[in-house]
Amino acid sequence: MFDLKGLIRPHLKDLVPYSSARDDYKGNDGVFLDANENPFGSITKENWNRYPDPYQYELKNKIGEIKRVSADRIFLGNGSDEPIDLLFRAFCEPGVDNVIINPPTYGMYKVSADINNVEVRETQLTNAFDLDVKSILDTVGERTKIVFICSPNNPTGNDVTLSRIEEVLKRFNGLVVVDEAYIDFTDRPSFIEKLNEYGNLIVLQTFSKAWGLAALRLGMAFCSQEILGVLNKIKAPYNLSGLTQRTVYNALENIETKDKMVDDILENRIQLKSDLECLGIVERVFPTNANFFLVKVRNASDVYRQLISKKIILRDRSKVVLCEDGIRITVGTKEENNALIQALKKL
Ligand code: PMP
Repeated sequence: MFDLKGLIRPHLKDLVPYSSARDDYKGNDGVFLDANENPFGSITKENWNRYPDPYQYELKNKIGEIKRVSADRIFLGNGSDEPIDLLFRAFCEPGVDNVIINPPTYGMYKVSADINNVEVRETQLTNAFDLDVKSILDTVGERTKIVFICSPNNPTGNDVTLSRIEEVLKRFNGLVVVDEAYIDFTDRPSFIEKLNEYGNLIVLQTFSKAWGLAALRLGMAFCSQEILGVLNKIKAPYNLSGLTQRTVYNALENIETKDKMVDDILENRIQLKSDLECLGIVERVFPTNANFFLVKVRNASDVYRQLISKKIILRDRSKVVLCEDGIRITVGTKEENNALIQALKKL
């Protein structure tokens, strides 16, 4: 049986979190003389003089309706990079515990582990960029706290096999993070549906990709109430700005706009793939379920640098394991994609 209590860092069990007087009074009207705010308003047209809701209840309720998950299973952070960092701080004892990642994958899992002085164990994806479950389970040790799985995976673009993720969820007695930053671009269902089945599951999603809100910094973690309780206890009290909360709340009325942008990106993805495949310089365009391609080209680093001099910026992944001569290309607008193809033709 999965037991979260055994995973929490011991010194956090009795932590008394920061509290404010607004924990005792939830109303919007009143004489607020508790938080040393400016009573007159702000220097901007809109007033931002009051601290924002620390638990973002209104926004979570709305996100919960859209994602079909109850608000008490949602953590909102400053990008999904915030919950990634908080998971280390909540569950991994520096210098003692370890986590498992599956390279090639998103770089922040390791950076966050390094910042927190937590050992990273690596089990490489298979040559088809799929999870190697046996290798993951063989790598698990007494002090392994978290396995990070990214699907669709960055930088390869593919979904890993869902049954393999479930196998890890079933057989690993620690936390399993399924990072679904690119979920809107794939056909497969979200693991949010599996939250009731697996108490050790944490699903990450973000507003930075399909929703087009990267600058607002809003990431989501969906998890059990118990895990949420731990994250809430250690997060900064006002981790999401009022501007972000209000802007995204209003933007959630425009789901059709997001859907239309995703449709356009998917359409452009088809065209970009066939255009890339016609170029002599391109050796392979890997299959993708995301809004980018991993593309194998001759002399990738040279291509990358030459394009930068033409102000076309790609992501050089050629030094990354299993991605030799790989470049990651985001699907842009038709004009942007054409500019890239024309520039590649001239190399
Ligand atoms: N997960 C993956 C797989 C990503 O590629 C990224 C961003 N590139 C993130 C998480 C972080 O997203 P955010 O902007 O929400 O911090």
